[in-house]
Amino acid sequence: MSADQSFNPFEMARSQFDKIADLLDLEEGARQFLRTPRREYHFTIPVKMDDGGVRVFQGYRVQHNDARGPGKGGIRFHPQETIDTVRALSMWMTWKTAVVNIPLGGSKGGVICDPHDLSPREQEAICRGFVRQLARDIGPLIDVPAPDVMTNSQHMLWMLDEFEALHGGRYPGLITGKPVGLGGSLGRTEATGYGVVYTIREALKVLGLDPKKTSASVQGFGNVAQFAIDLYQQLGGRVVCVSSWDQSEQTSYTFRRVDGVDLEALRGVTDRFGGIDKKRAKDLGYDVLPGDAWIEQDVDILLPAALENQLNSKTVGKISKQVKIVAEGANGPTTPEADAVLHERGVFNIPDFLANAGGVTCSYFEQVQSNMNYFWEMDEVLSKLDVKMTGAFHDVATLAQRKKLYMRDAAYVIAIDRVASACHDRGWV
Ligand code: NAD
Repeated sequence: MSADQSFNPFEMARSQFDKIADLLDLEEGARQFLRTPRREYHFTIPVKMDDGGVRVFQGYRVQHNDARGPGKGGIRFHPQETIDTVRALSMWMTWKTAVVNIPLGGSKGGVICDPHDLSPREQEAICRGFVRQLARDIGPLIDVPAPDVMTNSQHMLWMLDEFEALHGGRYPGLITGKPVGLGGSLGRTEATGYGVVYTIREALKVLGLDPKKTSASVQGFGNVAQFAIDLYQQLGGRVVCVSSWDQSEQTSYTFRRVDGVDLEALRGVTDRFGGIDKKRAKDLGYDVLPGDAWIEQDVDILLPAALENQLNSKTVGKISKQVKIVAEGANGPTTPEADAVLHERGVFNIPDFLANAGGVTCSYFEQVQSNMNYFWEMDEVLSKLDVKMTGAFHDVATLAQRKKLYMRDAAYVIAIDRVASACHDRGWV
């Protein structure tokens, strides 16, 4: 699902895999096995629409690999969803769960639809129809879905309810992203942003930098960005810039306050989609700059937390010499061309599937709590999250140092090696 029709994410995911398979000297059988999803489900979902007609929606679930545990991955609702996007995302989920060493595999799902044009009843029918097609192929011990682009906790509850109706029992471990109080975990909202900052904190230690003497510039002001800013400021860091998408003008803006953004005040002028009100931000003393100004600030840390393809061959030259760390909160914010430049310049990279793995780690905690029907307090969730993210970061950083690898490559080596070993030890390849 990309605006650029020539971009095929599955080809990109495969070429990333091939590079590391060469580095690991992976056997041919294991390569072939891991380049291709294990199972794919393609199905239609007929829905009786509110106007009396019937519309048929296309659904997909791709289970890339489950050698290390049940599949895990979100379900997207999007008008431009493609099977190759779902395949790529399922493969990336396999590497993400492996790099943080949680006992899960990688899956992803999608329905070609635009929820903006669908009533709640029609959306409910799609959710229930999706589960009816997969009732025997997903489950707490098989494959565990979650929300993703344009799906939320309500969609997850409808899906859970349909599954429980079909199976005749309560299976809260089927799905994550449920509302707190109905099987959801405390800390899920904070998890991705906080997880990014746990890895930044550790990277600063590796580089011998005091967080209190560092500054950062952030792209986006949504869920990931806001909680990352919250924790980074608690560590004493100064956030100079954030940026956001202006829906009415169809463009983005950067909001700069050199003394540091005031998170609460800025939240007060931001809508629920993370869009900042330009006029009210100006009144709060922010400079309003063009959308990509966040990239060219003299800061120590760049934190892209909005979209893919932001640090690319056109923008990488604008990055200040002062930048020491790029922490990828967003998925795929750096293109291979920009990555090569940053590598050459010695910028410390915290790759997306490590940096933003706090979300799936907390989803795993949700599944664990759901399965035992016993829920942890917030402190317990966050301290377990910190342990997982910090451990994963140091596994990668230690290997990168020992083998003189770029952090992204070291993360891939660890993830692919773990999955290939599990497949080998099970006797599959
Ligand atoms: P969100 O929708 O809450 O916020 C997105 C933010 O980006 C908003 O502030 C929006 O205004 C801004 N934005 C959109 N287009 C922009 C543009 N062109 N320029 C500048 N800002 C722009 O999304 P989120 O949940 O914070 O996710 C952000 C990124 O993190 C995505 O790449 C997502 O895939 C990734 N991610 C999120 C999670 C999670 O748990 N939320 C987990 C893993 C990865």
